Amino acid sequence: VTDQAFVTLATSDVYGLGALVLGHSLRHHRTSRQLVILITPQVSSSIRTVLDNVFDEVIEVNGLDSGDTAHLALMKRPDLGITFTKLQCWTLIQYSKCVFLDADTLVLCNVDELFDREEFSAAPDPGWPDCFNTGVFVFRPSLQTYGRLLQFAGVHGSFDGGDQGLLNSFFHNWAVKDIDKHLPFLYNLNTSSTYTYLPAFRQFGHEAKIVHFLGAVKPWSYKYNPQSRNAYQELDSPTGHHDPQFVNLWWKVYSSCVVQNHICSDSLNLVNSVSQLSIEIKTELSDPEDRKRWEEGRMDYMGRDSFENIKKKLDRFLEQ
Ligand code: UDP
Ligand code: MN
Repeated sequence: VTDQAFVTLATSDVYGLGALVLGHSLRHHRTSRQLVILITPQVSSSIRTVLDNVFDEVIEVNGLDSGDTAHLALMKRPDLGITFTKLQCWTLIQYSKCVFLDADTLVLCNVDELFDREEFSAAPDPGWPDCFNTGVFVFRPSLQTYGRLLQFAGVHGSFDGGDQGLLNSFFHNWAVKDIDKHLPFLYNLNTSSTYTYLPAFRQFGHEAKIVHFLGAVKPWSYKYNPQSRNAYQELDSPTGHHDPQFVNLWWKVYSSCVVQNHICSDSLNLVNSVSQLSIEIKTELSDPEDRKRWEEGRMDYMGRDSFENIKKKLDRFLEQ
């Protein structure tokens, strides 16, 4: 199928690597659709080269230099920079239908059936389920829709300062009008759902089709131990509550991309060896069960392995 595409977006190198992992996962699960990425000039040429290997089209966009509606709307709303960039997916009129996926998503199986859905289909947002989450959505490229979106943005702005607020206002009857436009949550599973609704995650989590690493901490904010194949978080960095099995899976795919695409991992500073400090903490775990959990990446971030507890251990260690 050449007139339908999965579309993602990257405005920087790290998001570019996220997109690379996403593209790789779509290929791995043998999608029959085209893969397209929108990038901005900030993405370096080395990352573009690796993106070229995975995506059918790498399209550079730049919301600022078109002297048209986009420019005018942008002048009025300088706060909506990346949002405007995302809206440009509606300009891909060489495709009749597309599925947008955030660069921080990962597909776990073939999801081509999403193309059976119509514009505008999306899954509920975990924080406010009467709103849809814009990490995964089905749309039809159209310059007319694009123009209307820009005009709408110029007049109304976005209630959350991003694309999600804007698109929820624009497609405002999504919550009530047509249940076929509600994608199951399994197509946009928030990887923190382990913590927000554990029983549901236990019941349904194994059916996940697309996972989304929502929030400020992304898989690439973690460190990775290639020997044990575990991602872990540095003690002094902001804590993400993503389920460790999904973070480890992201890193597994990333590692294979690194190998296949000959990415120089040192220069990207993404693959890291275990720091001395975290080895010290691990050796303090006397209970073999605890050690096993740690080594399998199943840290209890909210409980005994929470930042506060680890910090206490660390303080004790440093006092000795
Ligand atoms: N994005 C980007 N560069 C940025 C921020 C966002 O390219 O600096 C793109 C990327 O595709 C990302 C999407 O916009 O997945 C939405 O942002 P993000 O995923 O960080 O937001 P969240 O899903 O956590 O709300
Ligand atoms: Mn996202």
